[in-house]
Amino acid sequence: MEMCTVALAGNPNSGKTTLFNSLTGSRHSVGNWPGVTVEKKHGKVKVNKNIEVVDLPGTYSLTAYSMEERIARNYIVEDEVDIVVNVLDATNLERNLFLTLQLIELGKPVILALNMMDEVEKNGEKISIKKLSDELGIPVIGISALTGDGIQNLLDLVLKTYNEKDEYNLKVLTYSEKIESRINELTQEIGKLNLENNRFPNRWLALKLIEDDSEVTEKIKIQIEDEGFIEEKLVEEKYKKIGIIVKDALETKRKFNEFTSSDKIDKILTNKLYGLPIFGLTMYMVFWLTFNIGGIFMDLLDGYIANTVQPGIESFLVSMNTVSWLQSLIIDGIIGGVGGVLMFLPNIIFLFLAISLLEDTGYMARVAFILDKAMKTIGLTGKAFIPMIMGFGCNVPAIIATRTLENEKDRMIAILINPFMSCGARLPVYVLLSTAFFPGNEAIVTFSLYILGFIIAIIMAFIFKKTLFAGEATPFIMELPPYRMPSVKNITLKLWIQVKDYIVKAGSVIFVASVVVWFILGYNFSGAVTINESFGASIGKAVAPIFIPLGFGNWQATLSLLAGVLAKEVVISNMAIIYGLGESVAEAALEGSAGGFLPTLNLAFTQVSAYAFMVFILLYTPCVAVIGTIKRETKSWKWAGFSVMYQLVIAWVVAFIIYRIGMMIF
Ligand code: GDP
Repeated sequence: MEMCTVALAGNPNSGKTTLFNSLTGSRHSVGNWPGVTVEKKHGKVKVNKNIEVVDLPGTYSLTAYSMEERIARNYIVEDEVDIVVNVLDATNLERNLFLTLQLIELGKPVILALNMMDEVEKNGEKISIKKLSDELGIPVIGISALTGDGIQNLLDLVLKTYNEKDEYNLKVLTYSEKIESRINELTQEIGKLNLENNRFPNRWLALKLIEDDSEVTEKIKIQIEDEGFIEEKLVEEKYKKIGIIVKDALETKRKFNEFTSSDKIDKILTNKLYGLPIFGLTMYMVFWLTFNIGGIFMDLLDGYIANTVQPGIESFLVSMNTVSWLQSLIIDGIIGGVGGVLMFLPNIIFLFLAISLLEDTGYMARVAFILDKAMKTIGLTGKAFIPMIMGFGCNVPAIIATRTLENEKDRMIAILINPFMSCGARLPVYVLLSTAFFPGNEAIVTFSLYILGFIIAIIMAFIFKKTLFAGEATPFIMELPPYRMPSVKNITLKLWIQVKDYIVKAGSVIFVASVVVWFILGYNFSGAVTINESFGASIGKAVAPIFIPLGFGNWQATLSLLAGVLAKEVVISNMAIIYGLGESVAEAALEGSAGGFLPTLNLAFTQVSAYAFMVFILLYTPCVAVIGTIKRETKSWKWAGFSVMYQLVIAWVVAFIIYRIGMMIF
């Protein structure tokens, strides 16, 4: 059999990624909110290598309003796509079917996969698959991507449709007479144009002309009058059709007038008055747990590295008569640097676990909803908040996720403010410094930094909106996904992806940076020297004066900041090497043992300057991975450079203000 390519299309949050993972055995991140998947993903079906699956970005329609809608439809009409599997959230037929009708019009064979049938059953609903299939004229099948129910049947149906694809007839949705005659006129005119390289059906192009689709009107230069009226009728008729289909197919009627328990919870969680305080409290709890529970494991891991791993390797190196510089490189440089970063893994796991749980239950989507309302009042789109919250994990996927924003200007704003959202890599810095300087108040100190980042992001968004990217606010209806029991599989998967990234980073970027830093701290042009005469100290000293007004103008902090542009964790590995020089960072930081790490840190920082330093790390230049992503997403080095510069300036100014105010108070 030849390769059969199946495109998965569907609304955001319909379960496409879950289905894709289950079909292909891949492990992509799944989240209970719209807009998580924005790039298309390829994979071969596990049980049948002749079927290739492509997961398209989630869309509500196929009009060229946003980038992912264009990606989806242009891909579907390509030659290589044989079959479209339209994944639907069966608990929400009305909304999902709008896309189905558009997919049918595109002209490729469509199979409807009614997903989340487990929930439909739980809700006591019954959907007639047969009626749905009859009315739409396409094959329909009920599945549950989460439990795996019906997936084999879906594959069988895919193969059957593929084998019969030559007999496939274009399904036509017919509209009222007036619209049909206009469609026919336009279809004929388009036919006469003999368009080159056109893969779209002419009837579809006619429909899109009526809908005033920017991409199609650009391609087809047919003078059309104002089709506004017909366009409205077209959408109206589609919805009418959907209404009839749903009415026929839903065998048990939903009780519309009854508040579900989800609605009751929403009344509290999205309440104007206490929605935001509840979110604040929740996040505070998350940080409290990160420190108090994650901290226990951090101590254990630290103890293990300091008391077992390090002495073990050290005595091994000694027994092998290793030359002293190599011993120092391995112990002080690599174990000091990489170990200094790895020991924060428990905190990272805790934070990510908590955020994943909040995402998967559907709570984070509520937070976006509350903030949306607040932000609309100052002219910003609420849709930008989902990427912002994703930024708590890592800013790279978060910036990619801004592709869901229809308006280019809003998207630029969302990209430029995203790095202010404190990513997981910055957490270790806060853990280390807040443990050393604010014992007992670590959670509140760290929490305040996250809030500060958020506030700066909002202020900057507001300024951008009024200056560089002025424009109308795009209307946006935030939809709330249902509350769901988080799936253990999804959560572990997501956690694993993030933990793996952290470990891989420790083993690559941080490893290399540690070796380099070890070298520049031990040598200068005349060979091996004391740390104070090293290259590293010279570089640090040259730049340090810039930071004197901020309270941390010493070369050690400066060098750490410079290196931190590689990856924010490098700030930690760097400090571990500089201050610890082989000492275990946390041990010294936590126990404050004489001659250890803490006394040196205490000389280098006061409480106020340590806080200013953390603020600077929160706000300054994004790491190289993020700079690269900004370049890729804005298609210009100009904006990547801009974000480096403006974040530096903001970090400096804010840290300065905080340091000065702090000095007055304390
Ligand atoms: P996508 O945005 O379309 O890729 O959707 P995801 O695959 O990220 O899924 C969205 C949410 O729906 C996640 O919380 C999934 O765990 C959940 N989900 C997906 N499929 C099913 C299903 O068949 N049953 C139930 N109950 N939940 C599902």
